[in-house]
Amino acid sequence: KASSYYRETWADIDLDAVAVNVQNMKKQIPANVALLAVVKANGYGHGALQVAETALENGATWLAVALFDEALALRKEGIKAPILVLSPIPPQHAGLAAENCISVTVSAQEWVRQAKKYYEGSKQVLLHLSCDTGMGRIGVRTRKEAAALIDEIESDSRFTLEGLFTHFATADQDDGTYFNEQYARFERMVDWIHALGAHPEVIHCGNSAMTLKYPAEKRHLFSMVRYGIAMYGLSPSPEMAKQLPFQLKPVLSLHSRLTFVKKVTAGTKIGYGATYQASADEWIGTVPIGYADGWLRALAGSDVLIDGQRCPIVGRICMDQFMCRLPHAYPEGTEVTLIGRNGSEQMTADDRARQLRTINYEVTCMVHPRVPRIYW
Ligand code: PLP
Repeated sequence: KASSYYRETWADIDLDAVAVNVQNMKKQIPANVALLAVVKANGYGHGALQVAETALENGATWLAVALFDEALALRKEGIKAPILVLSPIPPQHAGLAAENCISVTVSAQEWVRQAKKYYEGSKQVLLHLSCDTGMGRIGVRTRKEAAALIDEIESDSRFTLEGLFTHFATADQDDGTYFNEQYARFERMVDWIHALGAHPEVIHCGNSAMTLKYPAEKRHLFSMVRYGIAMYGLSPSPEMAKQLPFQLKPVLSLHSRLTFVKKVTAGTKIGYGATYQASADEWIGTVPIGYADGWLRALAGSDVLIDGQRCPIVGRICMDQFMCRLPHAYPEGTEVTLIGRNGSEQMTADDRARQLRTINYEVTCMVHPRVPRIYW
């Protein structure tokens, strides 16, 4: 399935792993709870279209993206499943959303009022009302705001309140106090909306962390869950990694090949700033990936895997290449694993996240589009 490319750096995307992660999550949730696959940011860097198709073939029935452009791109590529845009879009695009059957997030009465002014068509504008239960990002916070918004929607038959949702700020943390407060607030807000006479078809709150952590008998999952990071085979947080209900299969691995190998004498300096100096005669390999590929300079000093061994990156990482110390000579073309398994050694996205003082989400998202994705 490899597409044509000429550089010796690539990301392998294991779509079978996506399939398994989706099937396992489907088994985890009640049959009447739908699974929405979150494929924003090019599927967390993995490829939105390929992940979306695989998720839909394996039990997902909805998709979500962050941007309206991401939703339109999926439609252009032939995706027919319902798509929700999770971030606010400008109200002037309501018509284009309706024409493309793309559901959009709404947080304020004013958005609907503006959308009505711009929209001249007759197709339904499908809206998901966002409730801010404690994330502090978007969404209505009071009953008054919710009532005004619903009135505004109901006064124009071209607008449909299709969904109602919230997003949790701390579902991945061991301490469930804040999560419980958010959850209770969402239950209250759902009651308000029902009491106002509105009955949106899809109510959803669970992200990967909530859905993995709280079995349906402990926490009502409403009608849908939004499955993101765990579909890519990664734990929502390091503390959750040890208490997952099923094993997650990582989807992305990152690879390159030695393009140049040389022996240097003690004292030879390597890289910008000449910060590394060989302390003895050493074999040095050059690897064609750099910070322009998302292989950030902060990874200098960490190890890459060659022939099942850990080899340290030496000197500064350049824009397109870096150097590493080899235990002995290796032929040019030898595979270098940056994320993934090599022999009995492995370097995970979580290891990279730790080295970069960030989260695994950022690690897969940062692999630049100029790194070809090879789908298996
Ligand atoms: N729902 C919303 C609104 C989100 O912003 C995200 C991701 O940031 C998700 C769901 C998916 O979360 P996760 O990747 O932790 O499953």
